[in-house]
Amino acid sequence: MPIGIYVRTKRTRKMLSEAHKGKKRQPFSKEHRKHLSEALTGKSHPHKGVPFTEAAKLKSSEARKGKKGKYGTVKTLKRKIWDIFSKYIRLKYADKNGMVECYTCGTKKFWKEMQAGHGFSGRENSILFDEEIVRPQCKYCNIYRQGNYDIFHAKLIKEYGIDILDRKIRQKNTVKKFTSEELQEKYEHYKLEVEKLLKNYWR
Ligand SMILES: [Zn+2]
Repeated sequence: MPIGIYVRTKRTRKMLSEAHKGKKRQPFSKEHRKHLSEALTGKSHPHKGVPFTEAAKLKSSEARKGKKGKYGTVKTLKRKIWDIFSKYIRLKYADKNGMVECYTCGTKKFWKEMQAGHGFSGRENSILFDEEIVRPQCKYCNIYRQGNYDIFHAKLIKEYGIDILDRKIRQKNTVKKFTSEELQEKYEHYKLEVEKLLKNYWR
């Protein structure tokens, strides 16, 4: 890796400039050289602020998201499930023609043109795949109105009672860790449900 990729910190720049001016012969301390060499070989710790090779970046991201299990990393699996879960949510509320109403504004569109909108921000694991609070939404409500939470929450209260918001906020604040096996199981469950729902249409 060319040395230019190394991100020059204020300290490094100062050292280099001093070295150029001949103030110091050795700009890098032994510890700093070790740090550099580790960074260049991808061995460095993720939080030391040094650059990584692509492999090292992937490794540290996997370390943070949980090790790569039999079915892939937790991060990839979560993305994969969200896709199928989103289809499930839209199909669940669709009529026989595949038309579905936006939960927060009532716009009716074909399920493929709708999105699955989450009733709470943050996408914490504890609430991510919670069917009660993920509903079909039009792009306008989900993206431009940023979830249209006022109406979303008012409708949830109407459906489940006043406790719903407290209950979901408590749930959101709990820590939930997924294993890759658990996520794979979830994926297979929703994949099957989507297949079942798709059979209902255009009969
Ligand atoms: Zn809408």
